[in-house]
Amino acid sequence: MPTKNTIKLKFESSRNLSPAPESLSAVKIKERYELFINGKFEEPHSKKYFDTINPANEKKLSLIAEADNTDVSKAVSAARNCYEKTWKKMPGKERGKYIYRIARMIQERAREFAVIETLDGGKPIRESRDFDVPAAANHFFYYAGWADKLQYAFPNRQPLPLGVAGQIIPWNFPLLMAAWKIAPALATGNTVVLKPAETTSLTALKLAEIIREADLPPGVVNIITGAGETGAALVNHPDINKIAFTGSTHVGKIIQKAIAGTSKKATLELGGKAANIIFEDAALDQAVEGIINGIYFNQGHVCCAGSRLFVQESVYKTVLQKLKDRMETLIVGDPMDKNTDIGAINSKEQLQVIHKYIKIGQQDGAEIYQPAGILPKKGFYCMPTLFTKVAQSNRLAQEEIFGPVLTIQTFRTDDEVIEKANNTPFGLSAGVWTDKGSKIFNLTRKLRAGVVWANTYNKFDPSSPFGGYKESGYGREGGLQGLEGYVGF
Ligand code: NAP
Ligand code: MG
Repeated sequence: MPTKNTIKLKFESSRNLSPAPESLSAVKIKERYELFINGKFEEPHSKKYFDTINPANEKKLSLIAEADNTDVSKAVSAARNCYEKTWKKMPGKERGKYIYRIARMIQERAREFAVIETLDGGKPIRESRDFDVPAAANHFFYYAGWADKLQYAFPNRQPLPLGVAGQIIPWNFPLLMAAWKIAPALATGNTVVLKPAETTSLTALKLAEIIREADLPPGVVNIITGAGETGAALVNHPDINKIAFTGSTHVGKIIQKAIAGTSKKATLELGGKAANIIFEDAALDQAVEGIINGIYFNQGHVCCAGSRLFVQESVYKTVLQKLKDRMETLIVGDPMDKNTDIGAINSKEQLQVIHKYIKIGQQDGAEIYQPAGILPKKGFYCMPTLFTKVAQSNRLAQEEIFGPVLTIQTFRTDDEVIEKANNTPFGLSAGVWTDKGSKIFNLTRKLRAGVVWANTYNKFDPSSPFGGYKESGYGREGGLQGLEGYVGF
């Protein structure tokens, strides 16, 4: 077991590592990006553009086109035209070849994608490089494989594509969320109009470049950029058959109201407030590492972030100390540095939201802990934060913060922790740490969460479905189940 001194040394040495910045060579960001409609890059109808910035230093990276209703209509008709004339008639085997091509091209340009993802969104380069980009390529590989095997996915049934899918994604995993949306839609014979989040459009536009180079029929994939109004125009367009949305529960509810009474189908992947539960018999060091990964990974900008920690009373003090010690070693700073654990918060607005919740927590009487350290002066950063003395009814324990903020509560029995864990409006994910298989099975049955990880956290695979219960949305993405949202019978 490390002593206080060795931890201090580790903390000092990790904070004193020489800078190891990822190189910017081989990465070209254009001054301006247009809309990708019908296989071509086009100026927006309004001629309006907005800035996209690097949240790590607040410098402008590029200009992004703002799509209005006219552009949205143009993109939807391109998708409809391609759907009717080409894509729905194409044999699955041929569609699959195009999807494989996209996957391989993402792999070939992986470094460029990773650097741009980090520059535009603020996440550590280590994560973009080792998680986001390979996971996006894998998603395309996985669904390419299904394109000519749909009859096996739905035995004794005749799956038919729905038509044109309007897809809207958030800023926390920009390329990966685009892959989650586009790959199953194309595999099942649908065409797509995708809107990335306003603050992180660049990798989706890079993906558009690949789609053009891969020679996909024009109109199969259209990528339109803009803010919430562009998303709303897409949702409300009468010629859309399916909405696939990932984002906040708030906007998810607006979308549900907007499509009520129409024939539009929807899958909604919304917010979360995951419980991570440590029992006294768990391997505690491993659990603490998992908790750290679960909440501080990607600055807590993760819908399934393990933001509520429940520790069995008998090991509470030990776990708390281990967590604090580990937090002291985390490196917060330049996301382009390969040593960085916690990068930049995605936007000024999001940083304000996180600060608001930290203040609310303190006002509600919770006790805050943050490790020592100095944040960079420019850019949007937040220290990893831990709250103890949290009551179940506190807003900190009920509302999604979407930042590196963890609350800790204790429990004595299985029934008590199941009740506490389920006591939020959300139901996206949860984690259980214990040595006993029987306990894992007991909890996974009773926790109302779409995904429950046992003795690990934040693990993804394209073959595993992901999605929520309650206000975390409905429908599943990933796996065989991810095909279901894009077919009718
Ligand atoms: P958000 O504000 O709901 O935005 C999501 C997307 O919707 C963005 O592209 C946004 O555009 C667009 N949008 C905003 N208002 C709209 C409207 N009225 N109609 C149609 N589209 C609209 O969410 P966010 O802040 O980007 O992302 C964080 C949220 O996503 C968190 O709640 C998180 O839990 C959730 N999330 C869920 C999952 C999951 O799988 N369940 C995965 C990742 C994230 P602009 O960005 O340009 O405003
Ligand atoms: Mg940006």
